[in-house]
Amino acid sequence: MNTRYDILILGAGLVGSSLACALEGRGYRVALAEASEPRSPPPGFDERKLALSAASLNALSALEVLPRLFSAPSPIQRIHVSRVGDFGSARLEAREYGREAFGGVVLARELGAALEARLAELRGLDILRPASVTGLRTDADGVSVQLRREARDDEIQARLLVAADGTRSFARSALGIGVFEHDYRQTLVICSVATERRPDGTAYERFSDQGPVALLPMGAYYGSICGVASEDAPRVLALSDVDYAGYLQTRFGWRAGRIQRVGERSAYPIVRVLAERISGTRSILMGNAAQTIHPIGAQGFNLGLRDALTLAELLDGDDPGDLELISRYVEARREDRERTLAFSDGLARLTSNPSLPMHMLRSLGLMAVGNVPGLAAPLVSGAMGFRGEVPALARGKA
Ligand SMILES: Cc1cc2nc3c(=O)[nH]c(=O)nc-3n(C[C@H](O)[C@H](O)[C@H](O)COP(=O)(O)OP(=O)(O)OC[C@H]3O[C@@H](n4cnc5c(N)ncnc54)[C@H](O)[C@@H]3O)c2cc1C
Repeated sequence: MNTRYDILILGAGLVGSSLACALEGRGYRVALAEASEPRSPPPGFDERKLALSAASLNALSALEVLPRLFSAPSPIQRIHVSRVGDFGSARLEAREYGREAFGGVVLARELGAALEARLAELRGLDILRPASVTGLRTDADGVSVQLRREARDDEIQARLLVAADGTRSFARSALGIGVFEHDYRQTLVICSVATERRPDGTAYERFSDQGPVALLPMGAYYGSICGVASEDAPRVLALSDVDYAGYLQTRFGWRAGRIQRVGERSAYPIVRVLAERISGTRSILMGNAAQTIHPIGAQGFNLGLRDALTLAELLDGDDPGDLELISRYVEARREDRERTLAFSDGLARLTSNPSLPMHMLRSLGLMAVGNVPGLAAPLVSGAMGFRGEVPALARGKA
C-alpha cells in the first residue's frame, strides 16, 4: 500500500466522498479513509430525504454523480411556509425567480450509492476501508495518521489532512480544536407519507412551538420531518402507524389532504456543534466535522458540499497543505459559513418562540416575504446555495 499521499480525506460520508470526486484529475495522490465496512453503507447514507439546493444540483451534475442516482431528484417548484397560530404564510414560486425549481429532493441512501459508484471509477484515488483513524500528529512538513485496518495498524503520511469525519470528529479533537455546542432539545422524526393529494412540486415548512414540520415532495409521496420535544420523542416513536398519521396530521394540517399512510420512522436528536476554527496545521475541517447545524433550513450537506468545492477550486501547486492555501480556504468559506449558520439557527429559534410580539413580527414577516418578491430574493438565493464566493461548479461552470 502507498503510505504517502498529498491529501488524506478522513470520512467517506456525503461530504468526504464529494470532495474525492471533485479532486479527480487534479494530479494529487489522494486517499479516502472510511471507518465503516465496505458491505454496509456509511451511517449518513440512510433514509433521510435531502433537499438539495440548485447550486448543489449543478455541482453534483458536473461531478457526474447525478446521472448515477437511482431516481432523479424530485424538483421543488414552490415552497410554502406557515406557522401554527400566526396569520401570515409565504408561498415562493421558482418561476418568479426565473427558475424551474429551487432545488430537488433525493434520498440520502441513493445519493450515497451514486457517490460510491462514481468513486469506484476514479483513477488515482485509494479508498481505505474499513480504516478507522486512531491517532494523528501534524507538523510544518506534514501529517502522520495511524489507521486501524481490520487486524493491523498502518501509519500513513499526507501533506494535507481533510477531516470530514462527522459531528463527533476524532480528527478535530486530536488537532485540539474545541467546539461550541447547543442542544436544541428537539428530536426530528422522519418517514415517508402518502397523502390524499399527490405531490405537485410544493415543499411545505410548517413551524410550531413544538418544532418544525416539513413535507418534501419525493415522486408519488412526501418525505416528512417532524420536530418533537426530546422528552416527548419516546412516546411519539411508540405510536402505531395509524396514530402517528393522526399526530402528523394535527401537527401539519390539511394542505396536502388526508395523510393516508406513513412509512417506517427514524429519529435524530438535534444538537448544533460548531468547530471553534476550521483549520489547523496542514489540516482542514469540513462538512459536519466543521459545523453540524439544525436540519430545519436543509443546509447541512449543501454547505458541506460548498466546503468541498471551494477547497478543490483553490488547490493548485505542489503543496496542498501550504499555510497560505489553508488561510485562503478559511477566508473563502467565511461569509457563506457565517450566513448559513445564522440562517439555520435563526430559523430554528425564531420559529419556535411563542411570545406575542414574535407572533406579530413573524406573521407580518411571512406575509411580506410571500407578497414582495424583492424581499425574499436574498433569502431565496441564499437557500439555493448562492451565498458569498460561490464555487464555479456550483454556478454550473466546469
Ligand atoms: C433528519 C436530517 C435531515 C437532513 N436534511 C438535510 C437536507 O435536506 N439538506 C441538507 O443539505 N442537509 C440535510 N441534513 C444534513 C446532512 O445530512 C449532513 O450535513 C451531511 O450528511 C453530513 O455529511 P458529512 O459527510 O459531513 O458527515 P457524516 O455523514 O457524519 O460522515 C462522516 C463519515 O466519517 C466516518 N468516520 C467517522 N469517524 C471516523 C474515523 N475515526 N475514521 C474514519 N472514518 C470515520 C463515518 O463513518 C462517516 O461515514 C439533514 C440531516 C438530518 C439529521
